[in-house]
This record gives sequence, structure tokens and C-alpha cells, in this order.
Amino acid sequence: MVFKSLQADIFVPKHLTTWQWLFEDPTYSPIARFPEAELGGYHNAVTKEELNWRQVKEAATYVSTALVKRYGIKEQDTVALFSQNTIWYPVAMHATTRVGGKVSGASPAYNVEEMTYALQKGEAKFLMTHPNSMDVAIAAAKAAGIPKERIFLLEGELAGYTTIQDLIQMGKQEAQQVPYWTIPKGKTNFDVCGFLSFSSGTTGLPKAVMIAHSNVIAQCLQIQPWTPADLKRVLAILPAFHITGLVHALHLPALINAKVIMLPAFTMKAMLDTVVEYQLSELLLVPPILIRMVRDPIVDEYDLSHLRRFSSGAAPLSEEIINLLKQKFPQTGFKQGYGMTESCSCITAHPPWLYDYKNAHTVGTICASTTVKIVKEDGTEAGVGEPGEILAKGPQIVMGYLNNEKATSETFDEEGYLHTGDQGAIDKDGVITITDRIKELIKVKGIGVAPAELEDCLLGHPKVEDVAVLSIPDEYSGEVPKAYVVPQSNQQPGSQELGRELIAYVRQQKVRYKAVKEIEFIDAIPKSASGKILRRVLRDKSRAGEVTG
Ligand code: AMP
Repeated sequence: MVFKSLQADIFVPKHLTTWQWLFEDPTYSPIARFPEAELGGYHNAVTKEELNWRQVKEAATYVSTALVKRYGIKEQDTVALFSQNTIWYPVAMHATTRVGGKVSGASPAYNVEEMTYALQKGEAKFLMTHPNSMDVAIAAAKAAGIPKERIFLLEGELAGYTTIQDLIQMGKQEAQQVPYWTIPKGKTNFDVCGFLSFSSGTTGLPKAVMIAHSNVIAQCLQIQPWTPADLKRVLAILPAFHITGLVHALHLPALINAKVIMLPAFTMKAMLDTVVEYQLSELLLVPPILIRMVRDPIVDEYDLSHLRRFSSGAAPLSEEIINLLKQKFPQTGFKQGYGMTESCSCITAHPPWLYDYKNAHTVGTICASTTVKIVKEDGTEAGVGEPGEILAKGPQIVMGYLNNEKATSETFDEEGYLHTGDQGAIDKDGVITITDRIKELIKVKGIGVAPAELEDCLLGHPKVEDVAVLSIPDEYSGEVPKAYVVPQSNQQPGSQELGRELIAYVRQQKVRYKAVKEIEFIDAIPKSASGKILRRVLRDKSRAGEVTG
């Protein structure tokens, strides 16, 4: 059975880039729709630096002019953004899309190896970064062949490097600003990639997901009707490189003319101070932070009675935490979105009539203009109430993976359905519940970690013969990686010392959130005849307590 959205279809203007849509078009641009005094924009909660939408447009116009005239950026060139959240991040992002470039986001926590991989896979020609990420940025740029002149600082100063403020000055000095780029004749905004974001999809290593201008526009238009009209301040603590931050913190607020309150670095104290100072009514958080909202004693030091709603996404939230949230904040409602990078954020979300804790264990209803199929293990389509893999089709489903046709054709089928690798069921009212995850993915604090990446890393250790990495639940991070290891035959099986050595080995090579929490030694990794790891077998055995070290 094919399940259709219950919402009225949205109209996606196919001729607009995200730049035209947010800054030029009279129907959509907040600059055209609101007087200057009422304009939202990006605001730094710590430094109080602020740019309204018109100032963002002005700064991004100068930056893009400098990029074209002084640095020769061309359409479809990739600009990598490698920085903590700052109001200059979206300026760099909009400047890139203004001239037809692609923006590639990277976690500011990446080490040199991971950043080099991101630059190479995303074919980055330029790198915009932050003083806090500079050491990694310089080394990774060198490894990826990006010359020093094409590394720009979004904040601060460093001798020998050009800053975004320098770019603004260069743009100002030009007699004429370059015109904004438009979709070439014969194409629509569904054919043009504006953003790259890394995801391992359902299997394998992280891949650069190609997100079209249309995907971001469509997703914002899908979520807008479900966004309360009084939402005037949006907290942006989710990282801008992740699809949730890219859409919900950097683009959607312009459509609803909200002020984005940006927090450069997350601590519970900084977040709570900000929530109280700006009297934020709705908090978009990921499950590990929601867990801290109910467990961390610091929360009790704040009067949060003004809070109206929690919004969750990017990973599952347990029923226990939902109940604790409801008890601790009885005046609040709850909503969540479900989707993946490949669906440019949400496939489903809670509409306002489901903003209560009764529905919190569900992921809401299907977004406008989207159809979902649920496919059972035997390959047949499920009906109401039957669980199966969720397949989704709609204007937010992305273009595919950059330079990876194999993974693209495996994930996006000929009918245009995205195979999510998530298992769920739909009820008679069209409300979907996620019941399991079939694919290989570990969601650590809401950020995806690819088991294949950690397996590759551990296989590089001389004492490891074979390995499989799986997700296990964790109270603090939601999920963490656990490695099942077959030691080389000359090793003592099950040695605690070797376990510690392997955990330290991964820590040395990977960013902190990818750290392996547990190692379990086993005799053999279960594999199919073709050599594919049978994760399900391992996981079921592990859940039943049958795997012994
Ligand atoms: P990412 O591409 O990093 O956004 O990861 C997408 C994956 O995160 C999905 O395929 C799900 O496995 C998981 N996910 C995202 N949102 C939710 C949610 N609300 N509930 C359960 N799992 C989720």
C-alpha cells in the first residue's frame, strides 16, 4: 500500500535557488515581506553580534563578489565550511549558493584524517574555517591540495590568512557586485546541487549527499505550516553541518522571519542561560540533550516555566525520557521529526494537533507532497499496523551521492523512493512509529557514525584479525559503538589489556564521538556466503546475551 500525506500539497517554485528564494523573491523573502525593524536574522548569544536578513544579504553579496572576482570561484565549485556555529557561517553559506557553488559542511570536531576525507570526497576548492579549527584545517587543506590563499577565517585573525571581513572589504571595493546566479535554461532547482552533507546511508563509509536547492526549499515549505506562528526566536545549538541545523536553524527561520539565537559552543549552562535570557519558548534538541534536561541537576537552578515545547529529532528518544520530560515540565508539549540527510531532514513530523506527550513515542504524520511505502521482510508492501522498511518519495528526497552511482542506485530506487533502512509502522490515522533500525548506523548524540569506518580503522591494528561494529544503547549519548573483535590467532583471546589497547587505538585516530565504548572478543564474525557481515545475527545474539567474550 502507498500512504500519502494527509496535508495539502505544497508548491515548490522550481526556478529559484535558495538565494533567490530567501533574499530576492517578493513572495518568499523576509526582506520583501517585513519592514527593516521587524526583520529576524542570526544572533550570537555570547558576543551579541547580530545580522538581520538584509545585512546577511549585503555581507554575502560582497563575499560572493570577492570569491568570483579575486578567487575565480565557478558554478558548482565546493566551499567546505569547517567551523563551530557563528553568524558568519550562514554568510559564507549564502555567499556560496549566491554564485552557484556547493556548500559542504564538516564537523568542527574532525581530525586531520577525517577532514581530509571530507575535503577530498566533496571535491572542495575552498575552505572557510574558524581559529579553533585552524590546525586541522591547515593540515587537511594541504593533504587535499587546497592552497593557503583559499583558506578563509570566519572569525578572528591569523597572520597570513584572509578573513571573511577581508572578503567583505574586497567585495565593497569592486565597482559592481556580481549578479546572483540563476538556474541554467532547461534545468530546474531539482537538478542543481547546492549543499553536500556526509552520511553513511544504509551501508558503508560516509558519502557526500547531494542536496538540491529544491530539497531545502521544499523541506522548509513542508515544515512551515506545522511551525507555530508565534515562534520568533529559534535556538541554534545543533551543529550547522548536520542536515537538521542546515534546514531548521539556517534556512527555515528566514522563511518564518525568526531570529536565530546561535550558541558557538554547547554546555548545559550556556544553553540554559540562553534559554532564560531570550525566554525561548521552543527548544529543538537531540535526544542526548533531552536526557540531560531531565537528569542533570543544573536544570533545577533555572526557572523554565516559560518553556512551551520540546522538539526532538535526528535519533530515537526512549519512552522513559519522554515520561520524565512530561513530569518535569508539565506545561510543555512535545514534537519530533523523523528523516535522514538523504531526505533533507523530515519525512514525517508532528503537526500541531499531535503536540502532546500522548503522541511523543511516534514520529508524527507524513510531510506534505510525500508518499511512504512500508515494505515487509518478504518484499511485499505492508498495510496499516504492519512493520517494515520505510521508503519515502517527495520533493525533499535528495539527488543521490556525489560520484557514487552504485550507492545511489542501491539507496534510491527507479520509482524515486528513498530506502531509509529504518523499520516502522503506520496506524489508521496516518501516524508513523519507528520500531527498529535495519541499517548499519550508530547515532552518537544524534550524529551518525558509520560502523564500516570504525571497522576499517580497527582492521588496521596488527592484533585484529576481523571485526564488526554495532550500536549499543548508552545512557549519556543515546547510542555508542561496540566492537566485536576476532583477535589474531597469536593473541590471548579476550584479554582486557588488548581491549583497552584497541579502544585507545580508535581514540587516537578518530574524533571523540566515534570512540568505541566496549570491545567484546568472539571466535568468528558471522558472515553471509558473499562475505557480508551479518549484523542482525550478531545483534540478535548480543541482545539474547549469547555472545561471550
Ligand atoms: P542522519 O542522516 O544523520 O540524519 O541520520 C538519519 C537516521 O537517524 C535515520 O535513518 C534514523 O535511523 C535516525 N533518526 C532520525 N530521526 C529519528 C527519529 N525521530 N526517531 C528515530 N530515529 C531517527
